[in-house]
Order: sequence, then structure tokens, then C-alpha cells
Amino acid sequence: MLSLVWFRRDLRVHDHPALSRAAAEGPVLPVYVVDPVLLAPDETSERHIAFLGESLRGLNEDLAVLGQPLVLRVGDSLEVLARLVAKHRVTRIVTHAETGSRAARALVAQVGDWARGRGLDWLVLPETGAQPCTAPALQPVTEGTGVLPGARALGFTASPCPFRQPGGREAGLQMLETYLAVRGQGLPPARATAPEAERSGARLSPYLAFGVLSAGEIRAAIARLRDTPGAAPERLSAARLLTAQLKRRDTARTAPLAEPEGAPATGAWARGETGLPFLDAAMRALIASGWLDHRSRGLLAAAGMQLHGLGAAGVGRHLARLSTDHDPAILWREMARAGQGPILDPVATGRKLDPTGAFIRRWLPELKPVPDAHLHTPWFWPEARRALAGRYPEPVLDPACAAREARALRARMAPGRGRTGSRAMPCDDPLIEGGFRAARGPQMTLDL
Ligand SMILES: Cc1cc2nc3c(=O)[nH]c(=O)nc-3n(C[C@H](O)[C@H](O)[C@H](O)COP(=O)(O)OP(=O)(O)OC[C@H]3O[C@@H](n4cnc5c(N)ncnc54)[C@H](O)[C@@H]3O)c2cc1C
Repeated sequence: MLSLVWFRRDLRVHDHPALSRAAAEGPVLPVYVVDPVLLAPDETSERHIAFLGESLRGLNEDLAVLGQPLVLRVGDSLEVLARLVAKHRVTRIVTHAETGSRAARALVAQVGDWARGRGLDWLVLPETGAQPCTAPALQPVTEGTGVLPGARALGFTASPCPFRQPGGREAGLQMLETYLAVRGQGLPPARATAPEAERSGARLSPYLAFGVLSAGEIRAAIARLRDTPGAAPERLSAARLLTAQLKRRDTARTAPLAEPEGAPATGAWARGETGLPFLDAAMRALIASGWLDHRSRGLLAAAGMQLHGLGAAGVGRHLARLSTDHDPAILWREMARAGQGPILDPVATGRKLDPTGAFIRRWLPELKPVPDAHLHTPWFWPEARRALAGRYPEPVLDPACAAREARALRARMAPGRGRTGSRAMPCDDPLIEGGFRAARGPQMTLDL
């Protein structure tokens, strides 16, 4: 019996139940299809293709060592799989349950219907079992391997990402090891500042999103640490935190929420040019690195929707295109939370996430001349006009006022919501009278 194993977000040979199951019963044709339904152009960009390319290279090498390299094709999944099935007289297709976008789930269901209709054995397995399974030996099948075209050739948006995490299993394993051994002993991301969270977070999200590592393998590494005599309590608490985060991931992936329709947002918020330094620094960090800590992401999403009035679809798809770890199930759940969560003042929240201003200074070098005391609100700095003209924009909105207006709007839309309604008040903030509105007057010459 020749089985075709269809890889999608499970780019590994270790702890791969579909591959192990198929290989136990005969030769296997391992296939990855670069399909626009799976890599939706509205949510995918050059950085994902680069990470994917590095991860597929590793997968191909690992499969070749086991006995049968990867078959990589570009096109419509159903057409590609149908051609390979006919050519090799495949009798069974084995794959993992799809946990990605609605379109990806529909595509897998469609392939399943087609396979069953053709009398093929269609087997869909959970992506990871109770115990990680080991990589199986593979019998060779004669079929060309194929290459992944570049992102531009595939029609994806250019998206330079100089600080992107490298793809591939080696990089993922190294992240896991350094987190459990050292990095996780820093302040947990929920209490850390943005620069601290960059180091103390597990940073496993792109490896999990592409399935280069499985959650089961990570749980097994955590269990080994727990069983290590004399393991430091700080290491054990990092392991506990990771276990809790993996549970959240499971929940998101088993109960995906509806995805709103709409194109990625553009404009000042999307470019990190709102004139609100922490918000802009967070966006520029995401643009340059493809990653952001959880609280800063939440603030970006909430500010985009609540203060800038952008729709959830636009905000979510822009974040998706920038996040190397884009995982539709997690993204849309978090977008729903951010849309319904507390309305945040990005300056006040920014001060908590970046009390020393180190994060702003790193990602907004144009604010170098601004003294620490004015870094979160450069418009209050008397020298701003002279020193920042042409370099950094004037704020596009007054943060405290916009937050209050958003609260008032929410209270009007849902009068029964209690506290939020009673806190709505007119925009008579001293910040506006003393600084922001004055700063927006005709005498202001900052670059607009
Ligand atoms: C608006 C918004 C969009 C997000 N989009 C994504 C996304 O596309 N992909 C993504 O992986 N995470 C997303 N997250 C969740 C979270 O911010 C990232 O998982 C986290 O920052 C990744 O860093 P880490 O690997 O160091 O995570 P850690 O906090 O160390 O967690 C370890 C792993 O647990 C999972 N995880 C962490 N937080 C969550 C969560 N809230 N829900 C479900 N699983 C979680 C991730 O796989 C992560 O790699 C989003 C959060 C927000 C607020």
C-alpha cells in the first residue's frame, strides 16, 4: 500500500503521527503543496515564505535521511494530489487535522470528499499524540523533489525583515533549549517590560505555527525537566508557564472563531507612523523582526481598532502579514479579545511596557535627541518642533481623549456594560489644552 502524506503546518519528521502511521504500513510519498488557499496572500508575505523555505529545506533533508525526500509542488492542492495519486497508484492519503483558516479547513474537507469519492483511504490524525512518536524509516519512491520559488515569483508582498527568527528545526530546538535552561528564568512576559519579554518569552511561536516543532515534543522536554533531580525552581516555573501557554494554544486551535472579511489595513497605524512613540515602536519592532510580545501585540490590535477606527479584519490581516508566527486560530481569537477588552491609552500603557524608554529608543532612532522625560510624549518637549521636524510625525490623535471617546462610544453601543459607560467624559484633558491641541496649531511645523 502506497500512502501519500500531505504536509501543511507540520513540517517535521519527529512526532509526526501521520508519517509514522503511513510508514508503518508501506512506502510513503511525502508531499507539500504551495497553494494560495493555504498561504492566503492577504495574510502571508515574503517573511513567511522565507521562513517556510528554510523549514522545508530542513524537512527535505530529514526525509532524505529517512529514505524518501520531500515532493514539493506549487499549485492547487487537489489538482497536485490527484496527479500524484494517479501517477503512483496511491491507495491512501494520510494527513493531520487542519487547524488553520476557514479556507484551509474547507480545502482539506474538499480533498477528503474527493479522496473518499475515488475510493481512497482518507485518514486524518491529530497532530500530536499522548507520547511523541519517533521518526520512521521510509522506503524510497521515485518522484522528483521540486523547489520553492521565491516570494516575489509567487506573488507575495515584499516584506524585508532583517531581525526575523530563522526557520528550521535546529533553530526551534535551540530556542526551546535556551528557554528551558536560561531565558525563561527572567520575568514572565505578563510582568516583563517589552524589551525584557523579547528575551524571556519562549520565542517558539513561528516554530509551532509552521509545525517545525510539535507541542507534544515541547511537553516531553518539559516533563524531562520536571523529572531532573535538583532542577532550579525558576526553570520549573518557566516550564509551568510554557505548559499553560500551550494549553491556550490547544484551546484556540480546537475552537476557531469566525474570521472577518476584509483587506489588510494601511496608513499611519500600519506603518508605525502615528506620532505615538510606544505604539510606533511596537509596530516597527514587528515590521523589522516579525515578532512582538503578547501585551504589545494586544495594545497594537486594540489601538488599531478602538482608537484608529480600523476594522478587525484590516488590523488582523496587517498583523498576520507581519507576524512570522501567523496562526489564524490564535490571531482571530486574540483579535476578538482585543476588540472587546479594556480600551487602552497607548501612552499610559506604553509607559508601563517601556518605563525606561529603551524599547522606543531602539526602534525609533529618530527620537534620539528627545530627553527621557518626553520620550513617550515628544509633543510636550519644547524643542520638538526644531529637533524633530521632518523626522517624526505629529500625533495623529490625542491618546487619552481618543480612549475616552472610544469608551463613550462603547457605552452608547452597549449601555448595560456598567463601568465603561459611567467613565465616559468630554475631552477636557489638560494634555489636550496644554499640549496636543496647541501642538497641532498652525505654528507647528513637524513633518505631517
Ligand atoms: C493581537 C494578537 C495576535 C496574536 N497572533 C498570534 C499569532 O498569529 N500566532 C501566535 O502564535 N500567537 C499569536 N498571539 C499570541 C501571543 O502573543 C504569541 O503567541 C506570543 O507572543 C509568542 O511568543 P512566545 O513564543 O515567546 O510565546 P509564549 O508566551 O512563551 O508562549 C509559548 C507558546 O504558546 C502559544 N501561545 C502563547 N500565547 C498564546 C495565546 N494567547 N493564545 C494561544 N496560544 C498562545 C504560542 O504558540 C507560543 O509560541 C497573538 C496575540 C495577540 C494579542
